[in-house]
Amino acid sequence: MSKLQILEDYFGHSGFRPLQEEVVDAILAQQDVLMILPTGGGKSLCYQLPTLLMDGVTVVVSPLLALMHDQVTALKANGISAAMLSSMQTQEESHQIESELKAGRIKLLYVAPERLLNPYFLGFLEQLSINFFVIDEAHCVSEWGHEFREHYRGLSLLKERFPQTPIAAFTATATKVVEEDIAANLRLHAPKRVRGSLFRSNLTVQAQHRIKDGRDQLLEFLKSHQNSAGIIYTLSRKQTESVAHFLQTKGIEAHAYHAGLSTEEKNRTYKAFVEDKVQIVVATIAFGMGIDKSNIRFVVHLSLPKTLENYYQEIGRAGRDGLDSETLLLFSAQDIVQQKSFIEALPDTPYKQHAFDKLDAMVRFANSESCRHQSIAAYFDDRIEACGEKCDNCTATEIQRVDITEASRKLLSSIYRTGQNFGLHYIIDVLRGSREQRVLQNAHDKITVYGIGEEFSRNQWLTIGDKLLELGAVELGEFKVYRLTPFGVEVLKGAHTIEIKKERLSMQKAAPKRRVTFFDDYDAELFDKLRDLRAEIAEVNGIPPYIVFSDKTLKDLSAKKPVSKEEMLEVHGIGEVKYERYGEAFLTLLQEQ
Ligand code: ADP
Ligand code: ZN
Repeated sequence: MSKLQILEDYFGHSGFRPLQEEVVDAILAQQDVLMILPTGGGKSLCYQLPTLLMDGVTVVVSPLLALMHDQVTALKANGISAAMLSSMQTQEESHQIESELKAGRIKLLYVAPERLLNPYFLGFLEQLSINFFVIDEAHCVSEWGHEFREHYRGLSLLKERFPQTPIAAFTATATKVVEEDIAANLRLHAPKRVRGSLFRSNLTVQAQHRIKDGRDQLLEFLKSHQNSAGIIYTLSRKQTESVAHFLQTKGIEAHAYHAGLSTEEKNRTYKAFVEDKVQIVVATIAFGMGIDKSNIRFVVHLSLPKTLENYYQEIGRAGRDGLDSETLLLFSAQDIVQQKSFIEALPDTPYKQHAFDKLDAMVRFANSESCRHQSIAAYFDDRIEACGEKCDNCTATEIQRVDITEASRKLLSSIYRTGQNFGLHYIIDVLRGSREQRVLQNAHDKITVYGIGEEFSRNQWLTIGDKLLELGAVELGEFKVYRLTPFGVEVLKGAHTIEIKKERLSMQKAAPKRRVTFFDDYDAELFDKLRDLRAEIAEVNGIPPYIVFSDKTLKDLSAKKPVSKEEMLEVHGIGEVKYERYGEAFLTLLQEQ
């Protein structure tokens, strides 16, 4: 039988999607494979098809029981013999499957990594004829990814024990760093690398500052999504229940789903959702990984996810059938504080800083006014044009934009001329002709870019730097050193026009020094909001509110309304340390006003 015949007979598809055939052919040619393709792109077919043209069994490593179960069920329904081995089965069932395997009656075997690495089981596998291994959700191998799993790390053993057996690894989300890590950890031999575009053209992506608890915004959003399926993500178990309850009181059927529920209850909700009996599930991130429901029409986040990887995967659950679907992210300053405190609580490892960096990227994305699709793609080292119509930033017409192409080129040029060895503050020093000792020591007052950027304030340059980071024109190296990407080089050469929301740049203008006033003239409403934020921070950190900031500081904040770090440092009771800890959260709140 030919590939196309199998595609039609077993899978019911009339043709391959882009990139699928390339991977199928590589597997048939016994090559190692590393495929990165967004959720819904059709990765499973890439290994399920070739095994039917090959002798032996394919062993698929997958992290989630539910996921394996769905795959096995779907395969069996297509007349393909598949089985799974998990800790959930009785010994009898396992023995049954093992003897079928020995008899060569199973084409695809799904196993959890911990099961696979069991010495007894490895010995058993050596008696079988395995055509190739599949590592699903391969990003779990990498500590630089967002879902590292200890057992996945052990998979490096496969190439030792089965040096002749090819490995095909698949994931939906991997930056270049993670991609390299996967290849190295699995010890892939010159793998066929296939990277699909991350652009999901049927998804409309929006992010807004959350107003209070966001419930009014949620209701407004749901108005245009009546009778369609969706997932609403919240941060805590308690929230899933209160939001589900809130929706029910508004006559909208919604079920809560979180890790604290009984297995039975979780299964019931999951099943009802997949079978279209419940339209809305309000969930923590425990819900949805590997969910095989193609008609999810919307995904809402009621607070900020901790990484762009998580976010992209979660919104990716919408619209797998290719039909238009909508996503909405609501976030606020409090989320940042909360996420930071979660990270703070982690043990001290090199990955802690990494977690902070990932959160920073997420915050930048949320605040950005660049094309959302383009920003996501840039984060994953994928370069695409602005979508023009599928995100809030591209469709916002009333936004006034200013051309910062020249400024961008100046900044990029300074990065380049100083050897791509410095952080943004230093680069700005050079641009603005600073007499800082370090600049003089490095003789950077002698280079052509010295002092060519005096028309912008330090803060404006920082904003321009952020913008270039969002666009993927620069990237951060070790020690937060700024480097040019290939796209940055193009910008430097003048090949692209760079624009920024006017408001974003003017807001940061070196503001005239404000008069120092206490108490006489402050915004009482703002004071209340600041107090709420303070209470939240205090609670998260387990300290009394006045330790965070005194009332005097809050009053001064609500009078001066600082919009930059510099201005903030002029506020009563805020020094560098306090600023480091809480400044950003308050700044974001003030900027939301
Ligand atoms: P992924 O694992 O990449 O998230 P899946 O393998 O679950 O994606 O496939 C997503 C959907 O696309 C499934 O419903 C699948 O049946 C469908 N699909 C996959 N390949 C094709 C194809 N060649 N033609 C049409 N539909 C396809
Ligand atoms: Zn866009």
